[in-house]
Amino acid sequence: MAKAWIGLGSNLENPSQQITDAFTELDALPKTQVVRRSSLWQSKPFGPQDQPDFINAVAEIATNLTPLALLVALQNIENLHQRKRERHWGPRTLDLDLLTYEQVVLNTEKLTLPHPGIAERAFVLCPLAELDENLMLPNLGKVKQLIQQLGKQACNEVLPVEAKVTTRF
Ligand code: ADP
Ligand code: MG
Repeated sequence: MAKAWIGLGSNLENPSQQITDAFTELDALPKTQVVRRSSLWQSKPFGPQDQPDFINAVAEIATNLTPLALLVALQNIENLHQRKRERHWGPRTLDLDLLTYEQVVLNTEKLTLPHPGIAERAFVLCPLAELDENLMLPNLGKVKQLIQQLGKQACNEVLPVEAKVTTRF
């Protein structure tokens, strides 16, 4: 099976529950298992502060789906959660990103691997480091090196909600 990493994010309608449900839904995908999940991490939204904090997490999965089939499956799960959004006219309740899939590099209209923006996003890198700080992202480098490039405070500003992990970075 292929090893892949999924980034989860939510800031609406009980975000912790959205993320917890999404872990279960990921594990229920065909040809796919959730191997490990990070803690839930809380972060301030970028830009306007008049919206709730985000909850983010990362899942390591093992899958026999191709990268594109996996992306479609992630979008199906997002849509399941977005139904709530359509009722309330709010922003979406769940974002699922395919962060990296083995060492695949891809630049197509539908799918970019690794996911663009990982290198600048503490809310992705910190939960990822919790699971595997030595993970190598193709073209970008090791997760722990990317965190060091963000600065020592990066993972202190993104607080774990559950486990009180003292950051090593
Ligand atoms: P973001 O997650 O960057 O804030 P969106 O979730 O709104 O933004 O972006 C969704 C679009 O990004 C989809 O149309 C999808 O085809 C595209 N996309 C490209 N690469 C990826 C990836 N690795 N994971 C998830 N979506 C991706
Ligand atoms: Mg997305």
